[in-house]
Amino acid sequence: MAIAFTCTVTDCGHRQGHIFSKRSYEKGIVIVTCSSCKNRHLIADHLGWFQNLTGDGANVTIEQLAKAHGVPLTKGRVGESEVLEVAGQDSVESTTNFASAS
Ligand SMILES: [Zn+2]
Repeated sequence: MAIAFTCTVTDCGHRQGHIFSKRSYEKGIVIVTCSSCKNRHLIADHLGWFQNLTGDGANVTIEQLAKAHGVPLTKGRVGESEVLEVAGQDSVESTTNFASAS
């Protein structure tokens, strides 16, 4: 699977794409690192590690989070791969942003 989104970290705003496994997205945890500012974004959390970001486990995928925050997310396909496209400037990433440890 893949996702395209815009980083909403202040002074970043980098539009980017990331690839991850469907299995992780449906059953595990998916975190992507912004290729520009290196901040991390939570895409899916089925294990409950980041309950503060998922509304105590109510919205555990970026699709559910986008819906909860009223942010347009479209689902498409490139070949065999599903692609999630999050609309330009939005609030999902600021919700799912968490600072990198470095
Ligand atoms: Zn960034």
